[in-house]
Amino acid sequence: MESPVRYEIREDGIAVVTFDLPGEKVNKLTSQVMESFSEVINEISGNQAVQAIIITSAKPGVFIAGADIREIEGIRDPKAGEELAHKGQLILDRLESLPFPVIAAIDGVCLGGGMELALACHYRVISDDPKTVLGQPEVKLGIIPGFGGTQRLPRLVGIQKGMEMILTGKNIYPKKALKIGLADDMAPKEILMEAAVQFAGKVMGPDWRRPQGMHRKRDLLETLLETTSAGRKFLFKQARVQTMKESRGHYPAPLKALEAMEQGMLLGMQHGLTIEAGFLGETAVTQVSKNLIRVFYLQEEFKKDPGVVHPGVTPLPVRKAGMVGAGVMGGGIAELFAEKEIPVRMKDIHPNAVAGGLGAAYKVLSKKKAKRIISQTEMDRKFGMISGTTDYTGFRHADLVVEAVLEKMDVKKQVLRETEEKTSPQTIFATNTSSLSVTQLAGASARPDKVVGMHFFNPVDKMPLVEVIRGEQTSDETVATIVALSKKLGKTPIVVRDGEGFLVNRILMPYLNEGALLLEEGVDIRTVDRLMLEFGMPMGVFILLDQIGLDVALKVAGILHDAYGERMRPSVILPKMVEAGRLGRKNGKGFYAYKGKESAVSPETISLISGVRKGGPPLLEKEISGRLILTMINEAAMILSQGIADRPSVVDAGMIFGTGFPPFHGGLLRYADHLGLEKIRTDLEGFAKRFGDRFKAADLIVDMAEKKECFYPVI
Ligand code: NAD
Repeated sequence: MESPVRYEIREDGIAVVTFDLPGEKVNKLTSQVMESFSEVINEISGNQAVQAIIITSAKPGVFIAGADIREIEGIRDPKAGEELAHKGQLILDRLESLPFPVIAAIDGVCLGGGMELALACHYRVISDDPKTVLGQPEVKLGIIPGFGGTQRLPRLVGIQKGMEMILTGKNIYPKKALKIGLADDMAPKEILMEAAVQFAGKVMGPDWRRPQGMHRKRDLLETLLETTSAGRKFLFKQARVQTMKESRGHYPAPLKALEAMEQGMLLGMQHGLTIEAGFLGETAVTQVSKNLIRVFYLQEEFKKDPGVVHPGVTPLPVRKAGMVGAGVMGGGIAELFAEKEIPVRMKDIHPNAVAGGLGAAYKVLSKKKAKRIISQTEMDRKFGMISGTTDYTGFRHADLVVEAVLEKMDVKKQVLRETEEKTSPQTIFATNTSSLSVTQLAGASARPDKVVGMHFFNPVDKMPLVEVIRGEQTSDETVATIVALSKKLGKTPIVVRDGEGFLVNRILMPYLNEGALLLEEGVDIRTVDRLMLEFGMPMGVFILLDQIGLDVALKVAGILHDAYGERMRPSVILPKMVEAGRLGRKNGKGFYAYKGKESAVSPETISLISGVRKGGPPLLEKEISGRLILTMINEAAMILSQGIADRPSVVDAGMIFGTGFPPFHGGLLRYADHLGLEKIRTDLEGFAKRFGDRFKAADLIVDMAEKKECFYPVI
C-alpha cells in the first residue's frame, strides 16, 4: 500500500514531508500514519544533506484534521489510551529535538493531533485562506489533547490563550493565529510553499538555535500572571471555577486538561507529558466521551445526508434570495445569506422593521469582524449583499423566498400568494413557521411542490439546526435544494414530515408544559429549573419559556393542543401569565423578573401561581425530573411511529442541535436506551395512574419494551 507520508529532499537541503492518506479526503493521524511518519523522521535524520524540514499536506483544504476518531472510540482500557498517547508523544518529541529547523506549512484544517504535530514543529507558516483553522477541539469529544498539546500550546501562546483554546475547543482563524503567536508567518495559499521555503532559508544554517517559549512578547499583565507562581496559581484556580460553573461537573475532560497544564508548568514538560497521556487514557474510556463521539458521528451523518431517498435528485442553485418579514428571525436569516454572499432582498410591511432587520444582520457581521473571522472589506462586501424594501421589487429573479412573518396561517397564505405573483414559477417558497402545517399553507399555492418548511432556531447565527419540513406535495427537488442550501449556510439540516410542531417543538412544548403543570401541583420554579440544569439542559424550563416568550409559547401550545388533543392541554398558568402582561424576557417580566443581566423569581409570578394551584402529593426530585424527561421520550416515540422522523438519529440531531439537549447524554433516544425501554414503560404507566393519561406510554415504547429492543443497535 502507498505510504501516507512521503518526502523528497531538495537541492537546497530542505526535506519536504507530505501527508497524503491514500483513499481519504482528509489526513488523519491513525497509529499507522504515525508509524510511517516516525520512519520518515528516522530516514531524514540520518541524511547528512538535510538542513531543514517543511511538513505539508497534499489534501486540498486540509493539513491534518486530527486523530482517528474510530481509534479513540475503540479505547476501552485506560492503559491502552495512555499507551497510544505515549507513543505519539515520543514521535513528536523526536521531531522537536531534530538538530535543524522544522516548519509546518499549513493550509486548511489543522486540528487536534494535527495541531499538536504542528506545535512540535519549530515554526508554523499558515495560509490566509478562510478554510485554514487551527485548534484543539478534543474536549468536544470528551478527551484531552494527548500528543503534547496541553504542554506545548501554553508554552507557545501563553497560559491564558492556551487554556482558552483547549477548554473551548474553538477554531482559531489565520489572522488571530498570527497575532497570538501560534503562527510565525502567513501567505496566500497559492504561494504557501514558496513562503515556507523562504522562511526556512532565513532560519536554517549552522547558527540556528531551537526557539524556546513564546514567539511573541508578553504585555505587563500577562507577564505578571503567567510568569510568577502566584499569578499562575490564580489563573488556574479561576479557570477551574469557571469550568465548573459552565460544565456543572458533567464534563470531566476540561478539568483534566487544566490539571495536566498546571502540573506541566509546575514540574516540567516531561512530567506534564506523562500526566497528559494518563489523563487521555482516563477520559477516553468515559461514557461522556463515547456519547460525545456519537454526537460527532450524528453531525457527520447529517452533513452527508442529501435529505431525499431517491438518488439522482439534483439540488437547484440558490443564487439570489428574497426574505419576507424582517423581525427577529428575518434579520438573522438574511445575515446567513449575506455571509455566504448570496444577494438577499428583505421585505417587511414596516420600514422600521426593515431597518431593524438590517441592523441585526450588521451586528452579527460586526461580531465576526471583531473576532477576526472576517476583515472590514469582507464585512462591507457581505453587508452589501442585503437590501431592504417594503414592496416586492427585486423579487422577480429570486431562486428562493423565505418567509418569517407572524405565526398566523391567513397572514402566511397571503404572503405566499403575493410572493408567487411577484416571482418566477421556479421560485421555491420556504416558510420559517415554528408550528403551522406546511401542507395546509401549500393549499394556497399554485405550485405546492415548491412549498417547503425551513425552520431556523433563535438566535439564528448561533443555533446549528434547520428543520426541513416536507409537505405532502413538496417535491424531492425542493427538499434536496433546501437541504443543500442549509448546509451551505453552515447549518445541520434534518428532514421531517409535516405535522403541527414538526419534531423539535412537538417534543419541547409538552416538556415545557409539564414544567408548568408541576407548578400547579405545588413544585416551585427554582426546583424544576435546578433539576433540569443538573440533568444537563442548557437552561431551566422557566428561563427557556421566558426566552421563547410566553405569548409565543401559549400560541404554539394551543396549536399543538388542537392538533394532538388532551395530552397536550396547556397548563392554566400560561394564559394567566400572558393575561397579566408577563411575556418573558422581551418585556423583562416572565416567570422571572429581569433587570439587566440579573434575574429572580418574581413575587408577582408566585402569587399568580398560588391563585391557580391545585396542589398534589409531594414529589421526589427524581419523579419531577422523570416526568419532564419521559414526556419528551414518549412524544419522540410517537413521532417515530408516525414517520415524522424516519429514524432515531433524526430525533437526536433535532434535540441536540435545536434545543441544546445535553450532548454528553448522546441524544434523547440514546438516553432512552441508557434508561432501558422496560423501565421507561413502567415509569410511564406509574405516572399515568398518578398524574393522568397524558403519560400513557406510546405503542412503540410498549412494543419495544416487550421485545427488549433499543432505539439504536447495541454494539
Ligand atoms: P417578529 O414579530 O419579530 O417578526 C415578524 C415580522 O414580520 C415583523 O417585522 C412584521 O412587521 C413582519 N410582517 C408581518 N406581516 C408581514 C407581511 N405581510 N409582509 C411582510 N412582513 C410582514 O417574529 P419572529 O420572531 O421573527 O417570527 C417570525 C416567524 O418565525 C414566525 O412564523 C415564528 O413562528 C417563526 N419562528 C420564530 C422563532 C423565534 O424564536 N422568534 C423561532 C423559529 C421560528
